[in-house]
Amino acid sequence: MSRQAKAVVCREWGKPVEVETITVDAPKRGEVTIKVAACGVCHSDHSATTGKIQYPPPLVVGHEAAGVVVDVGEGVTGLKEGDYVVSTFITMCGKCRNCVRGRPVLCENAKKSMVTLPDGTVRTHGKDGEDLYVFGACGVMAEYATLHEDNCVKIDEGVPMSSAALVGCAVITGVGSVFNTAQLEPGSRAAVFGIGGVGLNAIQGCVTAGAEMVIAVDTNEKKLEMAREFGATHTININEVDDVSKAIKKLSGGGVDYAFECVGNGNVVEQAFKALGRAGTVVVVGVADMKDKTSISTFALPADERTLKGSWLGSARPQYDFPRILNLYKANRLKLDELVTQTYSIDEAPQAFEDMLEGKNARGVIIFE
Ligand code: NAD
Ligand code: ZN
Repeated sequence: MSRQAKAVVCREWGKPVEVETITVDAPKRGEVTIKVAACGVCHSDHSATTGKIQYPPPLVVGHEAAGVVVDVGEGVTGLKEGDYVVSTFITMCGKCRNCVRGRPVLCENAKKSMVTLPDGTVRTHGKDGEDLYVFGACGVMAEYATLHEDNCVKIDEGVPMSSAALVGCAVITGVGSVFNTAQLEPGSRAAVFGIGGVGLNAIQGCVTAGAEMVIAVDTNEKKLEMAREFGATHTININEVDDVSKAIKKLSGGGVDYAFECVGNGNVVEQAFKALGRAGTVVVVGVADMKDKTSISTFALPADERTLKGSWLGSARPQYDFPRILNLYKANRLKLDELVTQTYSIDEAPQAFEDMLEGKNARGVIIFE
């Protein structure tokens, strides 16, 4: 059965998002409809509304949600009505070369489903019946969403839905960049640039993985306070130092072993690279404009054995990592509830985006009735 749902839609790049009533079709083969309970507001959603991430409008945003399965399409084997799930903006087919070698975030089929479901069509329509694209095969900033089962991860009941939702992007991206991409060694020294929802999770990932020193870098004093609450041992406000890379080198006695770039800016990547010690690694997590470039010392790569690498959704294996993160939360080894610093109704979504841009929240979360 198709459903009417309020949804947050980008109609034109550069304009504020709009809250509209849309039609969400019933699931087709391999798909489920979920009643969304909570959806985090990620900077990537905003980037899709400006064209920084080039997802075409009209687009239903949202990729970081938790909800309950209310309708199950033909051929679905892994989910049933009433199951709790977290969305993932990566379609994981489980069969392509990258999936079978343990790299589902690089799934070949995910490339085909950036703004549609994996079969190339959508289940979402505006008031004139026109198709609406969906962010990352999700479009879950809506009361209901129809997704492919390969974009859902089943979770246990009992975790607050607003906290569980964040595992779908901010938490897995930050924590996974440390656990999976960097494979940080205990006793390491780390720096995290950009303390948004993603950077805060990189910080707590470093702490949980046993880093000896975690230096948080941001332009916003409030974010640096949050960083300390999440376990940063040192903080640097960029506006208060002449050269952030030198300041990090001094604090860490010669440079950090790992630097996580969680801003999405080539200049920051360069600062992170310059802050490394010998054998150091920069992990680029932030998503920059397509035209953005970075500049690093080519010589330092071999001579210092430095590494520059990227991390997409925390190099996750979502079916394994989401439950793993939720178990660490249950064991009080990762904070999730504290990430939710403000909740909003769906009608307040434009405000939630503004608050994110002003740096007011660790994560703002839309809560559905
Ligand atoms: P956010 O807006 O919540 O946080 C960004 C933070 O960076 C803010 O605290 C801001 O003050 C800080 N900042 C801005 N300019 C800075 C600078 N020059 N130096 C240091 N700090 C600076 O954003 P978020 O939701 O945490 O997302 C962060 C980035 O990660 C975005 O680019 C987003 O698109 C990207 N992202 C990547 C993935 C992935 O899979 N790689 C997944 C999700 C988000
Ligand atoms: Zn995100």
